[in-house]
Amino acid sequence: MTQKKQVSSGRVARIVAQQLESLQRAGVTHLRKPQATPPARASVPHQLGGLSSAGSAASAAPAGSRTSPKTVHRESPKEGEPTENRAEALATMAGKVAQCVRCEELVRSRTQTVFGVGNPHARLAFMGEAPGEDEDRQGIPFVGRAGQLLTDIIVKGMQMRREDVYILNTVKCRPLGNRAPTPEEAANCREYLDFQLEVIRPAFICCLGAVASQNLLGTSASIGSLRGRVHLFQGIKVVCTYHPAYVLRYPPAKRQVWDDIQLLMKEMGRGK
Ligand code: URA
Repeated sequence: MTQKKQVSSGRVARIVAQQLESLQRAGVTHLRKPQATPPARASVPHQLGGLSSAGSAASAAPAGSRTSPKTVHRESPKEGEPTENRAEALATMAGKVAQCVRCEELVRSRTQTVFGVGNPHARLAFMGEAPGEDEDRQGIPFVGRAGQLLTDIIVKGMQMRREDVYILNTVKCRPLGNRAPTPEEAANCREYLDFQLEVIRPAFICCLGAVASQNLLGTSASIGSLRGRVHLFQGIKVVCTYHPAYVLRYPPAKRQVWDDIQLLMKEMGRGK
C-alpha cells in the first residue's frame, strides 16, 4: 500500500516536471493562478478547446479513418493578431501533451514528450514520425543525425532558417528501439497533431517518410508512390518525401529528396 503510494507520487512528480519543462521550452516563464472561468482565446479553434488528456472515442479510431477538423483557415497571421496567441495556444497544448497517458508503453519508455518546435506562424511545416533517442533526451524534434540532415535541407537547400518553419512529429513520444509507432499510437496522438496544424495553419506540409505521409493523408500507399507530387490535406498543399534517416542509410535517395524539395519550393513560389 505504502509502496504503491510512493510509486504513484513519483510518477506525478515526473509528469509535473515534464509539463514544466515543455512549457519552459515553449517560452512560458510565468504561470498564472488557475481561474474559475478560463479566459476565451480567439486564436484557439473552439471545437478543439475542450481537449482532454484522456482518450476519446474519436481519437481511438484507426489512423486515416478519422475525420479531421473542418475549419482550417489558410490565411497567414491575421492582421493585428498578437504572436503570443498562437504561441500560447501551442504552449498550453504542449503542457497537456506532457501529461498524456494514452499509450501505456510510450508513457513508460519516454523521458519526456516532444511536442514541436518553430514559428507558430510558419508557412511550411515538416512532419516526421516520432522522436528518437536524441529528441527524447532534449525534448526537441529532429536534433539527432536525421535532424542535422533536415536542418541542412532547410538551410542549405531551401535557403530558409530552421526557426522560420515548424517541425513536428506524428507521435510525440519515443517508441523504444526506434520502432515505428503503431496505428493505435498514431490515432491516440492525432488530436494533438490536428490541433497543432489548426493553430499554425501552414500553407504547406512536407511529410518525411511513410509514417507521416500515410497518417496525414489517411492512405496505405507506399512512400515511393506518394512522393513526387502535390497532395491536398484540408486545403494544405502536402509534398511527401523520404525520411532523412532513410537517406542516411541509403544516400542515393538524396537525389529524389532534392527533387521533392524543389517541387515544394516551386509550389511555395521559391523555386528557380
Ligand atoms: N525522426 C523523426 O521522425 N522525428 C524526429 O524528431 C527525429 C527523428
